[in-house]
Amino acid sequence: MRILVSNDDGIFSPGLAALAQVASKFGDVIVVAPDVEQSAMSHAITIQRPLQFRPAKVGTLEGFRVNGTPADCVAMGLYLCDKPDLVLSGINLGSNLGHDVWHSGTVAAAKQAAFLGIPGVAFSLCLNGDDPDWEATKPYVEQVLDHLLAREKPILVNVNLPIHPTGELCWTYQSVRAYNGQVVPGEDPQGRPHYWFSAVPVSAPDKGSDRWAVEQGLISLTPITLDVTDRAWLKRVQPPC
Ligand code: MN
Repeated sequence: MRILVSNDDGIFSPGLAALAQVASKFGDVIVVAPDVEQSAMSHAITIQRPLQFRPAKVGTLEGFRVNGTPADCVAMGLYLCDKPDLVLSGINLGSNLGHDVWHSGTVAAAKQAAFLGIPGVAFSLCLNGDDPDWEATKPYVEQVLDHLLAREKPILVNVNLPIHPTGELCWTYQSVRAYNGQVVPGEDPQGRPHYWFSAVPVSAPDKGSDRWAVEQGLISLTPITLDVTDRAWLKRVQPPC
């Protein structure tokens, strides 16, 4: 099996090395990742300038760094790798739960593969201020891949690992009940105004959702669809034309 590994934290992220190392137990790995951090770039692609790649070792594995977004990196990886069987993204330094799925470059890298019919799996580690322990995390990533590869799987899966997992896997839905994305004003040391975009969940998560699962210490697996059409609304207005 050929596996392409990417991320949005950049080629030097220890989470990328950890994921690539686990992936190498399952097949031949090629790593293609952004040359600098591209978190929260979502599914942006670069169209106003050319892309370039340079060799970059990731641990003992062959890798390339690209001057582009996570989606660019997967596109470039598919070009370099000639249709891998699986694309993995991560392990992101921080969770990608609920609305994060819309903002996430980690999920977008896996989604770029799914666009082309190749299964994509995004991995994120929920930190909440804790330091990541990659050696402790790796067996859980392996457990998830064992689970997904042993049976029919969705085209795109968003995996979130609690910092201290119980070891149980839980299929979940995306928690989008509440969101308080807002601009928070502040000022720089010279007294000039500046602003932070802040998006944090504002209420307790619903049982069965991705956010609920990681709060229980469960490893959350959310199957993601590529069609975001509001089917319920469409049904109400049928026939549409
Ligand atoms: Mn990131």
